[in-house]
Amino acid sequence: MTETIAAIIWGLGILLWGAIRFPRRRVAQKTKVIADRKSTFEWIALTACIIGLVVLPLLYIVTGAPGFSDRSFAAWNGWFGLVVMVAFLITFRMSHKHLGKSWSVTLEVREDHKLVTQGIYRYVRHPMYSSFWLWGIAQALLVPNWIAGFAGLASVALLYFGRVAAEEEMMRDEFGEDYVAYCARTGRIIPRLF
Ligand code: SAH
Repeated sequence: MTETIAAIIWGLGILLWGAIRFPRRRVAQKTKVIADRKSTFEWIALTACIIGLVVLPLLYIVTGAPGFSDRSFAAWNGWFGLVVMVAFLITFRMSHKHLGKSWSVTLEVREDHKLVTQGIYRYVRHPMYSSFWLWGIAQALLVPNWIAGFAGLASVALLYFGRVAAEEEMMRDEFGEDYVAYCARTGRIIPRLF
């Protein structure tokens, strides 16, 4: 496993992510939005994610910048990065599949919005955010640069910690006791063991 192969794995991961995400977006956008909690923060965090998870690592792979923050690369970084990247794509795909028409890039409730508690949502209530954390970890392993490698995790942390409470509040307002009960039996991003 070399740095070049690690970079190719990262690039393939991004392409597959796009292939999972973009066709779904069109389906979801056809359904009318009835509650919208979008805020300026949402847009800042989503832009940070595009920069941290896509732009900075791509820039590093293509140009080698910022060279001053390079770190050494070991073969295990690449192998482990590959495993985490695959775990990210599987989790991301499952969350998209089970959320179906209820998926949205921001915080909103759509017409006929159903509370999804099946599939991967039976174990965790934010599997898409679980997948984003895995994406950030995969990037940190595959991109041997402190800034370009860890920018993904930093932006995911911003999105996750800035959004999850507001999302759960929105879901409680919409689904009331059903959502409270659902929260009691699921973990946020890691399945509950007990
Ligand atoms: N936080 C979830 C979903 C992210 S997409 C995850 O990480 O998998 C964000 C949209 O999903 C929100 O606008 C909300 O309307 C919707 N949503 C979140 N959890 C949901 C659930 N259990 N059932 C139905 N819709 C949900």
